[in-house]
Amino acid sequence: MQKIIIIGAGLCGTLLAIRLGQRGYEVQMYEKRGDMRKEGVEAGRSINLALSHRGLMALEQAGLADAVREYCIPMKGRQIHTLAGQSFHSPYSGRSADYINSVSRSGLNIALLNEADKMDHVNIAFNHKCNGVNLDVGTANLVNLESGKNFTDEGAVVIGTDGAGSSVRRSMMGQTTKLRFHYEQSFLEHGYKELTIPPGPNGTYRIEKNALHIWPRDEFMIIALPNLDGSFTVTMFHPYGGEYGLDNLTTKDKVAAFFKKFFPTLIPHTPDYLEDFFKNPTGTLGTIRCAPWQAYGRTLVMGDAAHAIVPFYGQGMNASFEDVRVFDDILDANEGNWEKIFKEFQTARIENARAIGDLALDNFYEMQDKVNDEVFIKKRNLERQLEDQFPDYYSKYSLVTFQPKLPYAEAMARGRRQDEFLMELCAKEELPDLEKVMEAVRSLS
Ligand SMILES: Cc1cc2nc3c(=O)[nH]c(=O)nc-3n(C[C@H](O)[C@H](O)[C@H](O)COP(=O)(O)OP(=O)(O)OC[C@H]3O[C@@H](n4cnc5c(N)ncnc54)[C@H](O)[C@@H]3O)c2cc1C
Repeated sequence: MQKIIIIGAGLCGTLLAIRLGQRGYEVQMYEKRGDMRKEGVEAGRSINLALSHRGLMALEQAGLADAVREYCIPMKGRQIHTLAGQSFHSPYSGRSADYINSVSRSGLNIALLNEADKMDHVNIAFNHKCNGVNLDVGTANLVNLESGKNFTDEGAVVIGTDGAGSSVRRSMMGQTTKLRFHYEQSFLEHGYKELTIPPGPNGTYRIEKNALHIWPRDEFMIIALPNLDGSFTVTMFHPYGGEYGLDNLTTKDKVAAFFKKFFPTLIPHTPDYLEDFFKNPTGTLGTIRCAPWQAYGRTLVMGDAAHAIVPFYGQGMNASFEDVRVFDDILDANEGNWEKIFKEFQTARIENARAIGDLALDNFYEMQDKVNDEVFIKKRNLERQLEDQFPDYYSKYSLVTFQPKLPYAEAMARGRRQDEFLMELCAKEELPDLEKVMEAVRSLS
């Protein structure tokens, strides 16, 4: 079988290596970081993630979903914490099987690395950085970060799964005219910072375990996802500017006063929040769109390298795993013809990647200020009743999150039509009976 070079042994690259290894390809992966199984993981870099149906479906294809489910924590809905100190639960769906899962990023990556390591013809070289790809011939320029030695490696194809700062994509950008390469990068005026809620006594959970917690406060918000040891990873999504912006929260006194004003109920659960705040880095939040994703049938980008998105739909990793699943399906039909495979993959995915990028931005605004809004809450309640009574009703969130066979672009179009209609309906005093609402919703599809 041919040799395939994969740049980046993160979530997407490792799952791809496993699938290609399962198909019998010889896979050579290069990862610029050290082996996280030996060296640990840097602090403050999205410790846990929400894994949902799309990601699980791709893991299923590789025969790994059951093993991964073992260390997932189901999150059945959002637990909203208001400024007034109230807390209420808002289920993700009226269907009990539709929930998302909190999973450790490093735990999942390590499980995938271990699986890849079991395969004779999959090899992972850590501490090897790719500095670019010679697109015309499909060779990768690499440096061994331990020895400092530069070298070139050649395979049938090179696939870049090297994340948002992709070196492979940068090589494509170097041929802007020849490839008619289009590139867009936009950042939110918000960054993120991670804090921790430690476990309670004997590994108990200090707040509801099976929920994604949100403290929405208009232009800023905090979320928390549970970990297996009883702790929660808390993420502040916070603007840089403004009176309470990150650029102004420069002393412990200022941060303490800010938390007292806006997150008083969180303080007792986060004893080290001041230390965490100053110790942990601030991450940026951006969207990357580019095209084409392939060059000359020799090089391809996939995952965040092709379509980094903001994390507010919890879909970046899920979309990257879905890339692998769709790529795999396309390989089935076209094995041997890389140019055709790459082009078909791009056609199948690019519009959907754009859609989930847009949806993630929409959800940023929804999570920040709508989850507290009366009409929005009324609409969510109505949707739950609809999901409960009509098997063919799916909210926009459910279409995106729990309908893995529906492409993102279709989920977005249908979901937006429904949302608009239901928000208008819920702004009125009296709601028509459910049958009538459902009839109207059906007519929108
Ligand atoms: C705060 C936050 C929260 C998130 N929450 C969720 C969530 O709840 N659910 C969800 O689905 N997604 C979430 N995401 C998105 C998710 O993290 C990404 O979509 C996912 O990690 C993409 O996987 P990837 O393998 O494409 O890229 P990455 O995970 O970034 O992996 C890229 C790998 O390539 C390596 N690499 C980079 N450059 C080179 C080079 N030059 N040479 C060799 N190796 C290189 C890196 O070291 C890394 O190991 C979140 C993201 C953030 C920032």
